[in-house]
Amino acid sequence: MEKKSFNPHVLFIPNTLQGHITPMVQFGKRLVSKGIKVTLVTTVYLSKSIHVDPECSIAIETISDGFDDTGSQDAGSIEACFTSFRINGSRTLAELIEKLADKGQPATAVVYDGLFPWVLDVAKQYGLFKAAFFNQTCAVNSIYYHVNRGLLKLPLTGSHISLPELPLLLPSETPLILYVYGKDLTPPDLVELVSNQYSNIDEADWLIFDIFYKMEEKIVDWMSKLWKVGTVGPTLPSMYLDKRLENDKDYSINLFEPKTSTCMSWLNDKPIGSVVYVAFGSIGSPVPEQMEELAWGLKGINCYFLWVMSDSMKTKLPNKFIEEISDQGLVVSWCSQLEVLAHKSIGCFVTHCGLHSVMEAVSFGVPMVGMPLFVDQQTNGKFMEDVWRSGIRVLPDETGIVGRQVFQKSIKEIMEGEKGIEIKKNVMKWKELAKEAVDEGGSSDKNINEFVAKLLSCS
Ligand code: UDP
Repeated sequence: MEKKSFNPHVLFIPNTLQGHITPMVQFGKRLVSKGIKVTLVTTVYLSKSIHVDPECSIAIETISDGFDDTGSQDAGSIEACFTSFRINGSRTLAELIEKLADKGQPATAVVYDGLFPWVLDVAKQYGLFKAAFFNQTCAVNSIYYHVNRGLLKLPLTGSHISLPELPLLLPSETPLILYVYGKDLTPPDLVELVSNQYSNIDEADWLIFDIFYKMEEKIVDWMSKLWKVGTVGPTLPSMYLDKRLENDKDYSINLFEPKTSTCMSWLNDKPIGSVVYVAFGSIGSPVPEQMEELAWGLKGINCYFLWVMSDSMKTKLPNKFIEEISDQGLVVSWCSQLEVLAHKSIGCFVTHCGLHSVMEAVSFGVPMVGMPLFVDQQTNGKFMEDVWRSGIRVLPDETGIVGRQVFQKSIKEIMEGEKGIEIKKNVMKWKELAKEAVDEGGSSDKNINEFVAKLLSCS
């Protein structure tokens, strides 16, 4: 019997965090621009609150994580939340695949968050093409892979970790959950969660990474000996890079509403390169002692600063801090980080080294002061400082806190010092390389074209 062929239709299944949804949406837009139908699959609960640009070219469908009414914060723990998503998600994803087939829009492929290896098992049942998407670096993923295969034993011992094509890492420069394994209350289940990304990976048809080749060429080459690997980043709106996708100006699907006009009008009258932008991503929240040190550090250095913090973070600020800073600083609950980093007044970015924030800073040529908090950020911070040489990493003292003078010294060095000139030169080089990667004929562009060809050939 003749095999029936369909137009490619890819289901994207990201974790429900901003830093996971954004890169998939941006990668999805690139596929849509090449004629592929893309549907983003998120949870019933999240679908009720996300802000979707009406012009967004990606369709949305929902599955259940078992917390449709209350959200997964009710799960009690991260592990319980992932377990519930695996059980309910597997069932409802299968139902969705069947529903789409009945509607005459059958799914032909899945692009799933590496943290959801169960999607691969569902997709296999329906004969779909399976691509795992990772929004942590290849270095971090190589570490998880070695843990998964028992090639890197926990708890970590010795003064350094040595893995193929990675710089020597201090144990404290590996992802925090591995470093603290056996030392504190971090549940072993969390380690299992990240290492399990590799449990069935040999069955995936593609591994997609949200970085660009030049950032980690040796590690990408090493991984390519094991799997079909494609780097597709930076996954920023095209307008900020190659400008080939008309109307791709922002991230289109957001969990929070930005205070864009407040930020822009405040930044507009500040001198070029005079503002320190401070943000710790969508979930990072330093402890009160750390917030206090950073707050006094910024105030004392007498520079302008724009600081993103949620209402719960605000409660950790020193008394009357916001009233006292007057026009020196602006505090907002969320901003369009893209527009802020692209603004000429920004001279330095104090970041938690979340991969997306680092990629954005690099793509806009903004030097960083990195204060890693958790997950993969310790490793990103190491690379940001020593490999990409795009900023200065600030490290905590024996009490676990980065002191105010450390911030002041690093920010001054970036904004005024000799080292700052060198760092700015490097980061501008990365800015060019980032653009080159996604532009026509660049490494990410070629990988995306190859991926599209594969989707077409197996539909
Ligand atoms: N972001 C934003 N506005 C803010 C703070 C963050 O748009 O006020 C975006 C930022 O542009 C990035 C994402 O949130 O795309 C954070 O991702 P990252 O990987 O840096 O950190 P995570 O949230 O995953 O810890």
